[in-house]
Amino acid sequence: MSTLVLERKPQREEEARRRFVVQEHHARQLHWDFRLELDGVLKSWAVPKEPPLRPNVRRLAVEVEDHPLSYIDFEGIIAEGQYGAGTVKIWDRGTYVMEDRKPEKMVFFLNGEKMRGGYVLLRFKEEGQWLLFKRKD
Ligand code: MN
Repeated sequence: MSTLVLERKPQREEEARRRFVVQEHHARQLHWDFRLELDGVLKSWAVPKEPPLRPNVRRLAVEVEDHPLSYIDFEGIIAEGQYGAGTVKIWDRGTYVMEDRKPEKMVFFLNGEKMRGGYVLLRFKEEGQWLLFKRKD
């Protein structure tokens, strides 16, 4: 006689694991939109250069408006004349775990195809300007 064992992750762990996406956006200026599922929206930053895949590379990340969660899978063409007109394709995606969150600093662990490991978003003095970099661990 077999026993059915229902395996279930602890609730807190499930809540802690959220999605992220990086969309390569060929708009007037090429940039990468880095988006974290957080507080029921996609918190978003525009990164003018390719996001870092190894430590010791710091990238400017400019806070932009929140996007709805449904945007996480978006790939395609934003029509001419609309905000952000150009081509969007998913550059990376996966899940992440927030390890520490303060108004001026977020520390998280990314489980993406490209971005894997510990990362930090650190806000400058200036409003809306952050640095994105990979931790050395
Ligand atoms: Mn964009």
